[in-house]
Amino acid sequence: MHAPVPSVGLDRELLAVARAARGFMPHDEGLALAAAALEAATVGPLLEVGSYCGKSAVYLGAAARAARSVVFSIDHHHGSEEQQAGWEHHDAELLDVTGRIDTLPWFRRTIVDAGLEDVVVAVVGDSVTVASHWARPLGLCFLDGGHALEVVRADCEAWSGHVAPGGYLAFHDVFADPADGGQGPYEVWCEALSCGEFEAWSSIGSLRVLRRRP
Ligand code: SAH
Ligand code: MG
Repeated sequence: MHAPVPSVGLDRELLAVARAARGFMPHDEGLALAAAALEAATVGPLLEVGSYCGKSAVYLGAAARAARSVVFSIDHHHGSEEQQAGWEHHDAELLDVTGRIDTLPWFRRTIVDAGLEDVVVAVVGDSVTVASHWARPLGLCFLDGGHALEVVRADCEAWSGHVAPGGYLAFHDVFADPADGGQGPYEVWCEALSCGEFEAWSSIGSLRVLRRRP
């Protein structure tokens, strides 16, 4: 496996903005994601499923800016199952006037404050629906949407085929031990690894980066 070389070639101020942004991405994992994205950007554009409030998008945006590439960040912005009221990752500050989660204004604010509007493109909608109409081979696809097994599996089935040869497929919240977190991303990461098309590239915390064999 390849040890990520964090922050080389990336704008330190942008990494500081990413670190301070609201969301679910430990800094060391964000740096490793950005490092993979920097290499991936030579293969094709970057895409993530699960924008939330823009934290991972800024790490990816730092790489895209350095490589003169672009990040498509997909989210319906109504939150995953595990973010709804009463669940572990709920944040009542994100509710709109109708009482429904709406993270889009927060995402926009993060991207504007980071100065990344020309680099990070918000795609607002359901991941699988967008994937079914997608045509451009990707340099990197980062899966961090809904974490229930059937949701991650659907995202992986919908998107993994869009990763270009030599491109990267990354998973977040991969926990081998159920005591550390839900098993959806872990099981789907195992499936992707065992299908033979991808090889392990890097691993840090709960981030797993695979590379499509060239
Ligand atoms: N990457 C983010 C965290 C993502 S949280 C960070 O760095 O902080 C997961 C996000 O996936 C939520 O915002 C949720 O709305 C989104 N999501 C869940 N299922 C989805 C689907 N089917 N299509 C699009 N977005 C989805
Ligand atoms: Mg995550």
